[in-house]
Order: sequence, then structure tokens, then C-alpha cells
Amino acid sequence: MGISAVVSFYAGDIRKVFAQSGEANGGKVHLIWLPMAGDSGCTISMLQASNPDLIGAVEDLQVSADFWQPLMTPDYDLGWVSAGYTTEDRSQVPLMNAAFGNAPVDVLVVEGTPQIGAPPGGAPGDYCTIGERNGRPVNAYELLQKLAAKASYVVAVGQCSAFGGIPAARGNVTHAVPVTEALKTAGVATKNPVINLAGCPAHPDWTLVTLASVLQGFAPDLDELGRPKAFFSHIIHDGCPRRGAYGKGQFAQTFDDPVGCFWKLGCKGPITQSACSVTKWNGGIGFCTQSGPMCWGCMHPNFPDPPTSPFFTQVELVPAYLGLNVDTIAGVAGVGVAVALGAHAVRRAMKKRDETGTSKKTKGGSQ
Ligand code: SF4
Repeated sequence: MGISAVVSFYAGDIRKVFAQSGEANGGKVHLIWLPMAGDSGCTISMLQASNPDLIGAVEDLQVSADFWQPLMTPDYDLGWVSAGYTTEDRSQVPLMNAAFGNAPVDVLVVEGTPQIGAPPGGAPGDYCTIGERNGRPVNAYELLQKLAAKASYVVAVGQCSAFGGIPAARGNVTHAVPVTEALKTAGVATKNPVINLAGCPAHPDWTLVTLASVLQGFAPDLDELGRPKAFFSHIIHDGCPRRGAYGKGQFAQTFDDPVGCFWKLGCKGPITQSACSVTKWNGGIGFCTQSGPMCWGCMHPNFPDPPTSPFFTQVELVPAYLGLNVDTIAGVAGVGVAVALGAHAVRRAMKKRDETGTSKKTKGGSQ
């Protein structure tokens, strides 16, 4: 099956699951998108979703995105976001009500890295505050704890929240840590395992598939790092269009080489697990090594620290990854397998719903 056929096949499944979620939940699934240390790049990435697009998906789902700060503008009311106010004032009311009041939270999406260190004279987490409550800045780490304990599912979207990313790179004076570590440090237990969607940014279609799954009440199969297996079982190197050049020892000397392998220029595709080379990006058009630059390893758990850096230094011991030979892994987690897993994750959620006659709502613990 060609990738374009896979993409359109995929789109129908996702849209159908979203539609069923909307029916099952009566349009009352409450989502909070909590920003922490980051650049909102994953929200921007979500705006590029194509299978279906973000607006279509949320309309199908009838989700109530009670707080999603970058999309809440004073002039542009998206309808499904509690917009209409500036982010400096009334828009924070739904967030505070969800964290400190009785407003429900079904799915908590975290974008950005929790900073759990204490600045001089401050409390843990005071490096990052969001809005005010009772005349005082609200500590984002405290918001995370309140919301994560309340939500049925916590989804760490993007490298920062899943693995720390750039804010947690070496140096790290604010003690930025992954969501899982922040919650563990605070002693907060979640109702379901935190789902980690690695990537700088996170892939929008993978995020929609994951949200479709949890909104049906079923978590996707996760690996030992909390990542959906459907999207993180594949080595980028295996599906790279320059793989043939790698095999022939045909290595690029410059980044404008149209066919040569970028390994000697520092490509991290051989040590990075993700389905980038399977589903690709921008509606299945391409991905990093196909478009020109190398893979930077932005979905590797250590990014941007070694072994993904120094960026322009070739990875040594290329054939070995986690003790396995790259070529062996290729035989196990081929392109077809990874695509089938992705579609299967959605289909299984639909099948379970059909069997039970109703979807397990994600709202269970939102009181
Ligand atoms: Fe592609 Fe990089 Fe692997 Fe070369 S090293 S085949 S450019 S992923």
C-alpha cells in the first residue's frame, strides 16, 4: 500500500473515531492544554494537522478545549475554545476553575517542560507562573499537580514535556524535568500512565490519533518509555530514502547533496526511534532527511544532549542500537508493520466500543 493510500485510509479512521467520541461523550469532553517551559511549537504543529485537520477533528469530537492559551485571542473566537478574552485576564478563569475548583478535566495535555527548581527566595516551580489567583502569580508546577491528579488521561505532547527537551539540556539551572519525573517528585499519582509523544515538535497526526484513543477511553499500547508503540517502534534510518546510499557507502559532503547519506555530517536517524520516515509530515509529503537536512534526533529521549549532540558529529557505532543491530531491527519493525500498528490502534478503539455498545468515557475522575 503506498503512503498516500495509507494516509487517506488513516484519515477516515481518525475522523470516525472522533465522531464516535463526540456522540459517546455528548460533546462534553473537557480538555486542558497546559503550557509550561517551551515555545508553543507543538501547538503550531497541531495547526498543521491534515488527517483530519485540527478544526475538523475538534468539531467532530465536540471537545470543550477549556484552556489552550496560544489559540485564545481577543479577536478570534474559534467557538470550541473558551476564547474571546485576552490571555492576561478572563481566559485564565477556566484554567483556575479546573485546577482549584469543580470544573471537570478529562484530558490534560502538557506542552513544555515542568521546572521544579526553586529560584532564590522562591518555592519549587516558581520559575514558571501562569496568571494570577487571589492577587498572586500561580505556580505552573502546582497547576500541573492539581490537573494531573484530576484528569483521566495525561498526554505529554512534545519533547519538552515527554523527556525534558531543550529546557532540560545540560546546565538546567531551573531544574526542568519531564512530566513523569515532575509528578513523581511531587508524589502525584495519575489515573493512567502518562503518554509521552516525543518530538520537537510532536507530530500533529500522531497526537490526534492518541487523543482519539484516550477520548474513547482506551490508552494506546505504550513502550517502556511511555510512548505509543505505533509511532515509536521504528528506526528512522530504516525508512530513509537515503538508506540505499548509506548501504553503498555513498556519503554526502554537504547538505545540498540530493542523494548522499548524511551520516558523516552528523545524521541521528540511525539512533532515533520514530515513524517519521513512515507516516512522514505535512500530509505525508516528506520528512527531514527527505527534505534536505539530516535527522537531528529530536525524538531521541536524550535530545539535545549526547548522543544527539554534537549535532554535526557522526554517530559512532552506527550499526548498534540498544544492543541490537540496526539491520536486524529493520527486519522486525518494517514500514508495513509500523503503519499497520498505527491503523490498528485506532481500529481497536473502535472495535472495543462496538463490543461494549458504548465508549468508556474519559470523564470518570473529573469531579
Ligand atoms: Fe538517512 Fe541519516 Fe540513515 Fe543516512 S544516516 S540513511 S541520511 S537516516
